[in-house]
Amino acid sequence: MRLTDPTMRQNIQIVASAKNDALEKLKVIATNSPVAVRGIVQRKKGSNPDEKESPDTERIESWEIDLQEIYPLNDFPKDIIMTPETVFPPEQRHLQLRSDRDLREALRFRAQVRNICKEELDQCQPPFVEIETPLLFKSTPEGAREFLVPTRRRGLAYALPQSPQQYKQILMASGIPRYYQFARCFRDEDLRADRQPEFTQLDLEMSFATGEDIMTVIEGVIRRLWSTLVKEPAPSGPFKRMTYQEAMSRYGSDKPDTRIGMEILRIGHLLPVDLVQKITPLLDPIVEVFKLPGNDNDPAATHKFITDFLDSPAGAPFNNNPDGPPGIFVYDASKPLSGLMPFGFEAAELVEELLEPEHGDLIVLQARKRAPFSGGSTPLGDLRRALHAAAVATGFKPAPTGFDFLWVVDFPLFSPSSDSEPGQGGAAGIASTHHPFTAPKTAADVDMLLTDPTQAIADHYDLVVNGVELGGGSRRIHDARVQEFILRDILKMPPERLADFSHLLDALRAGCPPHAGIALGFDRLVAVMLGKESVRDVIAFPKTGKGEDAMVKAPSEMTEEALQTYHLRLRD
Ligand code: ASP
Repeated sequence: MRLTDPTMRQNIQIVASAKNDALEKLKVIATNSPVAVRGIVQRKKGSNPDEKESPDTERIESWEIDLQEIYPLNDFPKDIIMTPETVFPPEQRHLQLRSDRDLREALRFRAQVRNICKEELDQCQPPFVEIETPLLFKSTPEGAREFLVPTRRRGLAYALPQSPQQYKQILMASGIPRYYQFARCFRDEDLRADRQPEFTQLDLEMSFATGEDIMTVIEGVIRRLWSTLVKEPAPSGPFKRMTYQEAMSRYGSDKPDTRIGMEILRIGHLLPVDLVQKITPLLDPIVEVFKLPGNDNDPAATHKFITDFLDSPAGAPFNNNPDGPPGIFVYDASKPLSGLMPFGFEAAELVEELLEPEHGDLIVLQARKRAPFSGGSTPLGDLRRALHAAAVATGFKPAPTGFDFLWVVDFPLFSPSSDSEPGQGGAAGIASTHHPFTAPKTAADVDMLLTDPTQAIADHYDLVVNGVELGGGSRRIHDARVQEFILRDILKMPPERLADFSHLLDALRAGCPPHAGIALGFDRLVAVMLGKESVRDVIAFPKTGKGEDAMVKAPSEMTEEALQTYHLRLRD
């Protein structure tokens, strides 16, 4: 009989001799029941405690208890079937956690990650101070859609913070030089891409500091985490940097996985007009290309892989791209022009020079509108990512290994506002790419605010690893006049929305020092460290893709009484 101990660190075997009545008692206790046991404890014979290692390399010890007495402390009901194969639904999170050691380990690991971040920030000179900021905040158009908390005072509501951004900047104006917090944040947004409506950030801010200082501090946190808890070390020197423009043009993404190659090249100018017309209805498009190296020089296998992908649901958005579907070619030395016939002789030769394809490689073309980059990715960038993921999932390519950290810098300060994101609710048709408190990068970018704000570059940096954005931050505007100018004259916020920021403008006006900060998505960080696909695997009680807690069944319907208490009425 095996005993699971509450610390999860021990592997305990109960041994009972037939002479003992405890054995009779033991026999009738249902598996998975909590028990108290008295007996003689000894290390299990033949077990070498150093042999077995748990994922975080701590030892699991093996013990034996020579049973003397056993007391059941509660029953485990017969209607719950818990075998190693049982898969419990999210409604039974307690049983998921109880039956899945990995999940429990992930929570323990998460706590360790938190301690190590704390250790690193506490030992900085001067140290960062951990400060809690309110969760009952007020509605301000910072960027994401908020959750409101109605109060019993008619017509008044709090908003839950989408981040502690404004409070932490006010702390800088308050003479606290270095702040951090494991901050709960709330965003009522589209939950695609493995997001949670409530999540945790490691949030920090430093005064008399620039983005460089912040990047150095974060590199220190990452190095300490990786050297303590991850087998592969993080880079010892400064992390690589890449501008937004470079990331978008080389990888079609502002958070590229730089381990997988498949770099994107512009090729439109080399292609015959009839080929371009075949792949796009656009008149003057940009055409780009990348190569996915094949497997075993086998064009047939590459054909099968790409056909299966494009026929699958994952391929549908690419086939239905209004700018034209991707142009797909398999490089095949046995075919005329190695399968590049539609390129014509001249262009085929140039493509060969450019891509150096080998027998069985996949060549993918895609057209897009001739326009500056905006947003987080291009369709070809999305296809690059999706194809590589499918190649790994189907075994066509091995999974990439290691951690490739990268700072993506020099984002545009403003982006066209999109219908799906609330932005700052201004009337200018543009929204802040990061948030409206981000400073322009150079004096020339400040000047650009007066001439063409869409060309201004932000002092904004994102930390990316293996195609995952771990977090982002910026140097902030610390001059109230510049901040007000951006809110009012550039974003064209109406006066009543501008008034929502008066607390921040007042704090900046009171001689706020220059400051910069960042927030790392803590759930995502832990998931990346553990190689987990989803942040749900590192959160004790996650929400589903619909933003629901399936176990407690939240959100739940408001009763008539609650509606009355909060002076609310449901619209028909
Ligand atoms: N508040 C920002 C965010 O949540 C992070 C920062 O700029 O420090 O993305």
